[in-house]
Amino acid sequence: MATRSKESRPKVCFDRVLPRDMMRLQPTMRLGGRTRAIAPIGKTWMNGSTLRVRFMGGTAAQRAIVKEQAGWWTQHANLRFEFDNSPNAEIRIRFDPDDGAWSYVGTDCRGIPANEPTMNLGFMDGGTTAHEFGHAIGLAHEHQNPAGGIVWNEEVVIRECAKSPNFWDEATTRHNILRKYSADQIKGTAFDPNSIMLYFFPSDWTLNGIGTQANEALSELDRQFIAGAKMYPRSAPTVLEATELQPNATRRTAASIGQFGEEDLFVFAVQRAGRYVIDTKGPTDVVMKLFGPDSATALIAEDDDSGLAYNARIAADLVEGRYYAQVRHYNRATGKGNYTIRVWRSK
Ligand SMILES: [Zn+2]
Repeated sequence: MATRSKESRPKVCFDRVLPRDMMRLQPTMRLGGRTRAIAPIGKTWMNGSTLRVRFMGGTAAQRAIVKEQAGWWTQHANLRFEFDNSPNAEIRIRFDPDDGAWSYVGTDCRGIPANEPTMNLGFMDGGTTAHEFGHAIGLAHEHQNPAGGIVWNEEVVIRECAKSPNFWDEATTRHNILRKYSADQIKGTAFDPNSIMLYFFPSDWTLNGIGTQANEALSELDRQFIAGAKMYPRSAPTVLEATELQPNATRRTAASIGQFGEEDLFVFAVQRAGRYVIDTKGPTDVVMKLFGPDSATALIAEDDDSGLAYNARIAADLVEGRYYAQVRHYNRATGKGNYTIRVWRSK
């Protein structure tokens, strides 16, 4: 692509990652079970979600590119985009040419005030828009994958990024390019040189001669990963297929994860605000996420084994509304088994 030829400087996307202290904390108490890190990222949307998109400006041509390239992901992922310009849209796109290309990552978009963009498309060359939508659905930068083996020539990178079109100071370049995600913050595959989530940079930016190409289509691994068990598999239930739970039911509801990667989805109505507890019991090591009120995209809490043994338990103060509890096996690749679930009002 001409704009990323050898003569032009790389246009580098930066994904806006909220610092750890702004990430949603677990409101649950750890009551026992084995010691294990809590699912670290938690930035994926609920499988099967419809994410609404609002344009904050943009020409008809720009908007058409957005719709086309967002669709590259939804051909494979169990997600939908609705371009309805809703005031409550999860994804808000501005087209400020002086602000580069960036996006907040996945569910972090929810933490941004509704009158502010969650994505800027200051340039839309090649697959830039698809790349930014990759961030918006929870993907990080492939070139920051610790498995990538890239050894940056920091001096060169800092010097080049200080020039047009980025004009970054050293701290910004360190944050956007040089800083690698710590291994416990990502869930990914091996380094994929064809990933749309990779950005072009020349080989003299590295000490070990690794450069990258600008990728302008989803790679085979991108397609597999986004449709896979860790992200948005089509085999999992969507919000319309959720199983209804009655709060304070006398009997626990039996369920099972019958296939690797399968997710179960439950819905319950809170008619009286208060503290509610949702827990699982059984031999199956499950992870639970709670969404609501009246939203399948607003994450309230996430838990893996605060409950007894390997069970999940969430206690949260809930207002009136409908809530979704999503349950999957801790090990999506190999785990399955039976469990029961119950929700009750504790005070
Ligand atoms: Zn990016």
